[in-house]
Amino acid sequence: MQRVLVVSPARIPLSPCRPARARWLLTQRKAAVLRRYPFTIILCQPPADTVVAPLRVKVDPGSKTTGLAVVNEATGEVVWAGEITHRGQQVKDALAAWRATRRGRRQRHTRYRPPRFDNRTRPTGWLPPSLMSRVQHVATWVERLRRVAPLTDVSVELVRFDTQLIEHPQTTGIEYQQGTLAGWEVREYLLLKWGYRCAYCQQEATRWEVDHILPRSRGGSNRISNLALACHPCNQAKGDCTATEYGHPAVQAQAGKPLKDAAAVNSTRWALYERLQRTGLPVETGTGGRTKWNRAQRGLPKTHWLDAACVGASTPAHLKARGVIPLTILATGRHSRQMCRPNAFGFPDKAPKATSVVGGFRTGDMVRAIVPATSIKTGTYVGRLAIRATGSCNLKTAGGTIQGIHYKYCRPLHRGDGYRYTKADAAFPPHA
Ligand SMILES: [Zn+2]
Repeated sequence: MQRVLVVSPARIPLSPCRPARARWLLTQRKAAVLRRYPFTIILCQPPADTVVAPLRVKVDPGSKTTGLAVVNEATGEVVWAGEITHRGQQVKDALAAWRATRRGRRQRHTRYRPPRFDNRTRPTGWLPPSLMSRVQHVATWVERLRRVAPLTDVSVELVRFDTQLIEHPQTTGIEYQQGTLAGWEVREYLLLKWGYRCAYCQQEATRWEVDHILPRSRGGSNRISNLALACHPCNQAKGDCTATEYGHPAVQAQAGKPLKDAAAVNSTRWALYERLQRTGLPVETGTGGRTKWNRAQRGLPKTHWLDAACVGASTPAHLKARGVIPLTILATGRHSRQMCRPNAFGFPDKAPKATSVVGGFRTGDMVRAIVPATSIKTGTYVGRLAIRATGSCNLKTAGGTIQGIHYKYCRPLHRGDGYRYTKADAAFPPHA
């Protein structure tokens, strides 16, 4: 069941409570809403007992979407879940546009400059800004959750598969079996090595089969160098031929080459791991194979937040995820810092950007506007504010954008923090 995050009057995180209890506390005026995202209440009186259950925050980093889950290990409960949608491509596009404009400007204003090269250095561990933004989004959310939930541990999926488990001499002979963890690590390895394609027909299949290049029936081993990824028709057609006999000597040659470590080691994930270590919390690492195996063992469907809940060896045997509604977090950035807008050719042709702050409000703030009956726009609206320098702003509500809402009618609900939030349509699994 979804829980509501609770902090003491001194803002010390307490154990999250049931939604019904939060509602009761709020109606009895024993608590107030501290933050809307993530929804947190603050007690008005210090609690009688301050025994809190330790919680673990779990992260499944992805290139587009990162899953987050807060899990109570003692009870197996998923207490809170969220999914961050990153803005890596937007960062990349913005920098490309900036670079093109700058280059154009410099070439217009300077007849000739000798080329400069080799006079730039990058600090060790440098990542492109589009990738660094992902690391920072996750770090931001772990820190935010830490302020409102009693987190004691972190789990993060660091690598796709466990090289030790596959390549260590004692385990190279591991049986390929669906059920075992080692089998899932082998599967992850093969997916990456063969690029999610059938080794024989190069098609992206829906169901993968692990093919023995020298068939088992002819004494072929279960070693990783004898395995390839195949689709069902190719695996059937190949039968008890070797790959060469089947007309694919290249597959046989490629299988013998080990997957380069670089392919399995993702620099963004390592940067995230190092960033999470700086929180001072103990960080547990897991593999992608382990995550999939955990999820399959518990019969859970594939979603980013459930994958996060399944990261690492510490995953409880029974994950209680019923009724949890993940918070959908879309990274939007704060605002444009461009002082002058150029046209398609990079020439400045528009008026300098007007302010994005009026009367203490900023573009992106969530507000409730109560417009009195004297105004043509009378009514109560809840939405995101887009500032206009006149003070008469736009309000983006669930029912559409409403123009001409003056800031003096607005009361802040949640200050703009670089993210936009939506709730998923339904909890998984739906309430029984
Ligand atoms: Zn095939």
